[in-house]
Amino acid sequence: MDGKKYGDDEVIKKLMDGELSLSGVSTFVGDEAQASEIRRKYLERKYKIALQAITTTTIDHEDASKRNIENMIGATQRPLGFAEAVINGEHLKGLKPIFMSTTEGRLIAGVSRGLKAINAGGGATTTILDDKMTRSIIIETSGARESKQIMSFVESADGLKFIKAEFANHTKHGELIGVDCYTTGRNLFLVYNARTGAAMGMNMVTIASNNTTAKLVEQLNDKKKKRKSVDAEVSKSSIATTKKLLRVLSESGNLCTDKKPALKNVLVGRGVSIVAEALIPKDVVKDTLKTDPKEMARINYVKNYIGSSLAGSLAHNAQVANILNATFDAYGQDGAQIVDGVNALDDVEITDEGDLYISIYIPALEIGTYGGGTARETPKALLAASGVYGEGDDEGYTKRMLAELIATACLAGELNLLAAETSGELTKAHASIKRG
Ligand code: NAP
Repeated sequence: MDGKKYGDDEVIKKLMDGELSLSGVSTFVGDEAQASEIRRKYLERKYKIALQAITTTTIDHEDASKRNIENMIGATQRPLGFAEAVINGEHLKGLKPIFMSTTEGRLIAGVSRGLKAINAGGGATTTILDDKMTRSIIIETSGARESKQIMSFVESADGLKFIKAEFANHTKHGELIGVDCYTTGRNLFLVYNARTGAAMGMNMVTIASNNTTAKLVEQLNDKKKKRKSVDAEVSKSSIATTKKLLRVLSESGNLCTDKKPALKNVLVGRGVSIVAEALIPKDVVKDTLKTDPKEMARINYVKNYIGSSLAGSLAHNAQVANILNATFDAYGQDGAQIVDGVNALDDVEITDEGDLYISIYIPALEIGTYGGGTARETPKALLAASGVYGEGDDEGYTKRMLAELIATACLAGELNLLAAETSGELTKAHASIKRG
């Protein structure tokens, strides 16, 4: 039995007979790698399917099962490639490889051609506008009058001091920068905004803001219980329920907004808000991109603004989702947050000299270089190879550097695709790959 406490077949029989649950296998055999194999074999036998293709992996089952997954049975794999970018960033400078994992043929070729043009023009300039993570929590109050009172407290100097101090009790790397309040009456939304060091910060901010809100609600309820008579101002209200205690209605109130397309994120940003820009000389546009700046500017306007507006889309770009998908997978990011990152805006203009100016504004690039999926072997190695693995980076410089890499790749993808569409190359390029 190779030192195993139980043989695989013995445990699979227990699963088949319903004597053991899938999640119970790990504890039963005491070894995550074996548990993973048992669950896979069980599936194969039960459904008469073949899953051999998922068994080859460098993933440490023990660690992954503690932080990333339940009921593990193996791992998926995608092809990995790279493109080279010259970046004039606030943090990153010089020629850098950008890693991308994809199954979309021609994607990396397209980004590479975009980068060839950008590099020939001197590189991409990246500027970080903001870096924060948010979490909204809903407190149920007795009505708008009470919600307003609480908002006044939260927004006061004393209120913010109390909240900041409490928030700091629940995270070492998170730093609260403010709380925005919104109410519709009995529903009071507190939106916590925090710096999160190198981490994307969603778990960090969720934990700290919920503990902080619980403390705030506890204190406000204590005051409420002690109050003998109803506050004079509140008593003028027709709502006579002020004795009702406050409670947290939801630990996540959708006003954050996480993993859902939202105009709010476009306007105020979430994660890293970043702009990447480049100037492409007109002869490079002609020789490398096979088009001209005027055509590029026109198609950007008609496609990304008129077309997107008609479609009711928040995404005024050509294919940012593709590049986010490829870089998020390579660098161990939470793929569901592509939904927020994708609402990016392109600007394409012609300079007085007839050259091409292109920029992309990505308001909500929710990424991290420490925590979450970045601890897995492949992303960790690729983050380290890009010089941005976040261990020991309390200030979050590596996260902002990763944002500069990703935004540059997005800019290149936009430049290339807009050019390909003006010159009719998009269809030809995709028709040239092996399909089906
Ligand atoms: P995490 O892996 O949950 O936590 C990272 C922790 O690492 C931080 O809280 C921090 O602890 C510690 N840390 C150590 N060195 C650090 C450094 N240099 N910079 C920053 N933190 C450092 O990661 P997370 O970013 O908070 O959350 C990401 C995960 O949340 C992903 O797996 C994602 O899929 C998931 N997610 C959760 C939600 C949710 O609602 N909870 C939503 C979306 C995604 P201290 O806080 O003690 O400083």
